[in-house]
Amino acid sequence: MSTDVLDVAVIGGGQAALAAGFYLRRSGVRFTVFDAQEEPGGAWRHGWASLRLFSPARHSSLPGWPMPAWNQGYPPAAHVVDYLTAYEKRYELPVLRPVRIKAVHRDGDLLRLDAATGSWWARHVISATGTWWRPYLPYFPGRDEFQGRQLHTVQYRAPQEFQGQRVVVVGGGNSAAQIVADLAPHATTTWTTKRPPRFLPDDLDGRALFELADRRYRELRDGRPDSGGLGGLGDIVAVPPVRQARDRGDLDARPMFDRLTPTGVAWADGRTDDCDAVIWCTGFRPALSHLAPLGLRDGSGLIPTGGGPRALAEPRLHLLGYGDWTGPASATLIGAARTARDVARAITAQLETR
Ligand code: FAD
Repeated sequence: MSTDVLDVAVIGGGQAALAAGFYLRRSGVRFTVFDAQEEPGGAWRHGWASLRLFSPARHSSLPGWPMPAWNQGYPPAAHVVDYLTAYEKRYELPVLRPVRIKAVHRDGDLLRLDAATGSWWARHVISATGTWWRPYLPYFPGRDEFQGRQLHTVQYRAPQEFQGQRVVVVGGGNSAAQIVADLAPHATTTWTTKRPPRFLPDDLDGRALFELADRRYRELRDGRPDSGGLGGLGDIVAVPPVRQARDRGDLDARPMFDRLTPTGVAWADGRTDDCDAVIWCTGFRPALSHLAPLGLRDGSGLIPTGGGPRALAEPRLHLLGYGDWTGPASATLIGAARTARDVARAITAQLETR
């Protein structure tokens, strides 16, 4: 238990928390980062074996120190883990791990953070716990009857474990497209989506996506006509393996099945197919359970922020990463810096007026 009061407690230890740490260190405030994991790297430690970034290294950097170059195409997740590990050391960020913050409570002028190993008090809390830790699986008729294997994106590791099997992959986003591309040479793969998948133009990578998100942010902020950002263009980044799979004809999606049966799936036209496994690439929700005692969530399960990082109903709480609702592109490597900088500035200004 620490009775010293921190200016800022950062909960998380992935890229968003490190970007915050970079700016907090520069501003000279007293802060600690609490990370539930044993080692640095955040969610990048847990993706599937072939997972790669959707942008080159030079467009995937946190503030201050650019991600080292990766010469063979887009960098793999392990390169990001190495970068985050070195980044933390380089800036001597004070990270305590493993410390899982179980609950954040109001305690007079302060916020109290409770973990199994103790409690800490802070004037401000930055929550940067990501989404990987809260996989979302939709309810689907027959889901409990299916006798085969069901897994979510977070449990998928490598195609070899499905060698020769029949696999149905559900979902219209990047994870689904990349996993189908990975699996198709090894397994009989069926891709099924609620609406036809929409591929972004081949020349758009993460950098271009960030620029579009940024343009839209400025349009909305300045009251100019909304160009629609990414929405009008598509959902799936055509990274090289996805492009190759699409060109091979491995990425022809079928409309969603009606229900699961004990041995497979039943389609809307009444036909059925047996399969060995269903992989649900159905997304994530923000990992916010540690903030439950603050009672801030709305009906959608999110904490209202008005599109910025600060909780509207609790000005001492700041949310980083998670999705565009906490700042445009703030859940990406390249986009984390701007939101983190804004948060650090706002906190420092508030601490100075005390
Ligand atoms: P995380 O990396 O999830 O880190 C959160 C940290 O918080 C973890 O270390 C976790 O242990 C810790 N934590 C959680 N709860 C607690 C708690 N209660 N107490 C203490 N610690 C806690 N973005 C890009 O820019 N380029 C890409 O190519 C890209 N590809 C992606 C591919 C996939 C499959 C996914 C899912 C996302 C991708 N993203 C990409 C988006 C984003 O960059 C990553 O999701 C990234 O990991 C988000 O970083 P984060 O710091 O917000 O969260």
